[in-house]
Amino acid sequence: MRRHILLHACCAPCATAAIEILDKEFDGDITVLYYNPNIAPRKEMETRFEELSRYLSERYGDKIPLIKGEYDAAEWMRRVAPLSASGEGGKRCFECYYMRLHYLFEKAKELGVTDVSTTLSISPHKDKKWLDEIGRLLEKYYHVSWYSHLWDYRRSVELSKEYNLYRQDYCGCIFSLKERNERVAAREQRKKERIVNKTT
Ligand code: SF4
Repeated sequence: MRRHILLHACCAPCATAAIEILDKEFDGDITVLYYNPNIAPRKEMETRFEELSRYLSERYGDKIPLIKGEYDAAEWMRRVAPLSASGEGGKRCFECYYMRLHYLFEKAKELGVTDVSTTLSISPHKDKKWLDEIGRLLEKYYHVSWYSHLWDYRRSVELSKEYNLYRQDYCGCIFSLKERNERVAAREQRKKERIVNKTT
């Protein structure tokens, strides 16, 4: 049976290095799935999708199909909000990974592909062990192979620069956006305090 992989992608920068590897490994038999109901606001979700679409067509022409999943933002919020205080890297992320990977396996089954993977593990802020744990459990249930790989983060940075890709500075959800804003405000405050201390 010819292998075909369905790759879950969270954004263009994270997808770059993974697609390069999978293009060789699967001899071009790749479909990319963009399913990210976690991303807020909706405009940001659309921006990341459009950038991914631009990258695929600039680099691969029409060779790699791109599927856009539904924007189940209300369902995502219902499942993840109760865990939101865990912070980035905490239990809310486990639930967020699970929802996206579950959809990936369901879609893989529907399309009849042999393998699935995700770009999420490229980020140093993501928990690869959790992603693999979820992937291996779902693999047993759906009988679709979980392809685990340590993607090359530095290569993704190189390709993002080469294709001038938009790189967001927060993970995606409204909670991570709030945390990012708090970090920026705290940094600004420290900067102001340093200036005051120097001048007094
Ligand atoms: S920080 Fe990122 S991975 Fe964690 S819940 Fe928010 S969007 Fe999902």
